[in-house]
Amino acid sequence: MTYSIKIPNGIMTFVESKAECPHCERHIPFDEIEEKWVKQEKHYMRMKCKCKRFIGITCMMNGDFVAYSLK
Ligand SMILES: [Zn+2]
Repeated sequence: MTYSIKIPNGIMTFVESKAECPHCERHIPFDEIEEKWVKQEKHYMRMKCKCKRFIGITCMMNGDFVAYSLK
């Protein structure tokens, strides 16, 4: 499944996020990541899952987001 978002110059298409919380195994929807992702400039970020634990998110070369547990 792909996702399309509108950007000022057109439409950007992403594949569905494959990120899964390493703590509660919840699948993290793309839009939940994307809205935080656009605000940061690094290649990884920290976000809080609905289970109230912090997880790391990074983006793979193919555009997939993946989640990992923070140490
Ligand atoms: Zn979780």
